[in-house]
Amino acid sequence: MLGILGGTFDPIHFGHLRPALEVQQALGLEEVRLIPLRDPPHRNRPQTTDTQRLSMLQAAIKGLPGFRIDRQELERKGKSYTVETLRALRKEVGGKPICLLMGSDAFGQFHTWHKPGEILQLAHLIVMQRPGDSISPATDNIVESAEPLTTTAGGYILFQPVTQLDISSTSIRALIRNNLSPRYLLPDEVLAFIQTQKLYQ
Ligand code: ATP
Ligand code: MG
Repeated sequence: MLGILGGTFDPIHFGHLRPALEVQQALGLEEVRLIPLRDPPHRNRPQTTDTQRLSMLQAAIKGLPGFRIDRQELERKGKSYTVETLRALRKEVGGKPICLLMGSDAFGQFHTWHKPGEILQLAHLIVMQRPGDSISPATDNIVESAEPLTTTAGGYILFQPVTQLDISSTSIRALIRNNLSPRYLLPDEVLAFIQTQKLYQ
């Protein structure tokens, strides 16, 4: 199975990496693709450049088996719609199951995404609980274990227990802006890049 995690990753931090690694291992994903968004539909474009966010992603996953960066949303013009990304991936991988990883905050907004029904046909949703989010509402298609995911290309929703880390890019940017250290919230290599490039000040 292929796993994907989209985000602005501005910057990437341990709240992305640790839950994604746990999902990779729990579900036996052969590959996890991190897909940086170019122009998120629900928010402003990041202040950092695509290249800077890519460099931070590269630094973060260096040597981590099975993790890759997929640049397709950066290369596509216009808003970054997950459904388009999934259509492209579906062409690439055929009938192989695709698992779309997302935090519980993203899942709470999922019904407002472009074509949520088609997204759920194209992929399974794997929801990673974020601290402070209320437990998500009852929905159809929920499965209790990873086993059914392997039997179809998409369509199921799994709430996968992960280590809950109260870390966000927003809080990291705020720390830096206030001259406080974000160390131990994100990889040292990413922090070193932020410091050399003087990001988020
Ligand atoms: P920002 O504060 O700028 O929104 P963020 O920390 O929420 O940044 P995003 O790039 O928006 O990071 O998130 C990308 C994906 O990772 C989303 O699906 C989000 O729910 C998930 N995610 C982010 N942080 C965590 C976390 N601490 N635990 C679990 N999932 C997370
Ligand atoms: Mg976010």
